[in-house]
Amino acid sequence: MSRLVASPPCFLGKVLLESRSMKTDIHPTYYPNATITCACGHVLTVGSTIEDIHVELCTNCHPFYTGKQKLVDTSRRVEKFQARKAAMEKLGDATGKRVKREKRAAAKTEKKATKTKKMAKADA
Ligand SMILES: [Zn+2]
Repeated sequence: MSRLVASPPCFLGKVLLESRSMKTDIHPTYYPNATITCACGHVLTVGSTIEDIHVELCTNCHPFYTGKQKLVDTSRRVEKFQARKAAMEKLGDATGKRVKREKRAAAKTEKKATKTKKMAKADA
């Protein structure tokens, strides 16, 4: 029985012994008082391997927690869309595939109506 308790000279025993001690020079620097700064100005202090973290949302300003609607627009997508929309409105209805198709359909129905009127006149 005492032979089993002694450390086994097998691979698994070696792995178990090595896993208990930390390897040197492979771990990043740990900052116990790292700060997370939000765009709203809220600052959190946490332990991290990154000393200074900047975020756009936190529990202080996230719509889920505040109950208020907020647009998070980091790449100006809303602004770009609004500019595009304004440009389209400036151009008017003269352009666009859908508008052209609708115009053509309207002209076609108008033509048909005049044709049927002419046919009715001819019959009378
Ligand atoms: Zn925030």
